[in-house]
Amino acid sequence: MPSPSSSSNCAVAPLLPVVGAGTTVPLVTGEEVRYVGLDVAATSPALVPVVDHVQRLLGYYGSVHRGAGFASQVSTDLYEASRQQIGVFVGARADDAVVITRNTTDALGLLSHVLPADSTVVHLDVEHHANLLPWRAHHAVVVLAAPTLGETLQRLEEAVAGSGARLIAVTGASNVTGEVLPLDLLADLAHRHGARLVVDAAQLAPHRRLDIAATGVDYVALSGHKLYAPFGAGALVGRRDWLEAAPAYLPGGGAVREVGVDDVEWAPVPARHEGGTPNLVGAAALAQACRVLAGVGPRAIEDHERALHARLEAALEAVPGVRRLQVWDDAPDRLAVSSFVVDGHDHGLVTAALAAEHGIGVRDGRFCAHPLLARLAPGGTAIRVSLGVGTSSEDIDRFATALAAVVAAGPRWTYERTEAGWAPTPDPRDLDPFAIRAEVRRETSACEPAS
Ligand code: PLP
Repeated sequence: MPSPSSSSNCAVAPLLPVVGAGTTVPLVTGEEVRYVGLDVAATSPALVPVVDHVQRLLGYYGSVHRGAGFASQVSTDLYEASRQQIGVFVGARADDAVVITRNTTDALGLLSHVLPADSTVVHLDVEHHANLLPWRAHHAVVVLAAPTLGETLQRLEEAVAGSGARLIAVTGASNVTGEVLPLDLLADLAHRHGARLVVDAAQLAPHRRLDIAATGVDYVALSGHKLYAPFGAGALVGRRDWLEAAPAYLPGGGAVREVGVDDVEWAPVPARHEGGTPNLVGAAALAQACRVLAGVGPRAIEDHERALHARLEAALEAVPGVRRLQVWDDAPDRLAVSSFVVDGHDHGLVTAALAAEHGIGVRDGRFCAHPLLARLAPGGTAIRVSLGVGTSSEDIDRFATALAAVVAAGPRWTYERTEAGWAPTPDPRDLDPFAIRAEVRRETSACEPAS
């Protein structure tokens, strides 16, 4: 087994309690083990105080902005207070708008919707699809990242100056490599050329302090489900004017001030872009996660994740054939995300074996960043391990032992390639612990005509 380096081998407990920390899962070999979730970059477990908060608010749950009853009044107030809390968490300016969205994809889609006509948007090729595809509805200029951040910024500057771009769209931290971008320099660069900067903070927000007022970032987009608040809300925070100048993103109830038979007066922002009944539970959960993370402090979060990441990287280094992916030689900071290829191994088969034989959840594939993976990984796919405030050193060590075993000796079970990826065959595990599939099967077979 690869042994973590001596500098990183003392035990590290989870920093904050998360729901499901003790969940056990069955293995194909018949044992039951504690589940180790190391795919926090895809979606994070819920913080216990977030779920407690949701449980409490459900006692008062009512319609937001739509009712006269006490529950409705409490719900409306909580929704608006949650909006403010999210703004505080990202360091919003006093006149910034905070629009509650479904997630980061939705938030960036909203910004794309309100972008002034004929705008040019400059972005890097390293982006997640959520920060790449929406800009194709405008004039999109794609800049290939250079081997150093300094040179990459230079290329961005040339592209912005040459295109008269109105917006630069960058990720705060790569969802593939965890590398963090210098937001203050990027904001300066954008403003020098009369452009604005939007930061896709889906990865950055849960792990580093964001201060958009101090760094000069114009817009930030984030997702609750990556911020330990998996109740279906995200946010777009930033300059109000473009949002005020555009028609509703999702026309309907709540987005209007007045509707005639053939005309409409839109409500002011943020209501204008929050058509339909607001997601109170999602917004309140997200705000509570912001409160809890701010309470423990960005320094403690960073220290916790750095210690575990060093342990993870040391373990990866010890596995023959593992090569870690990175974009830049000089990224000043990295989140606790490691993507790597394993020479001579099918990545899908490795992750299937980690799940089915060891109870460990990681991700393989292209991570919704196809252009970046095509560039960094010769076979086009990789494996990604990511962690957060609920991760412990025991989790990392379990992963290290399991990866070393799978790489050294291959899977111990048999697997078949299916449309959804590699599947253990046979699979004796009960994958329907809620018995819903069984119930649906019973109900649909009861409806079938007797033959
Ligand atoms: N941006 C980055 C950097 C991401 O990692 C992700 C999700 O993985 C997204 C955007 C999209 O987030 P969501 O699926 O919550 O909209």
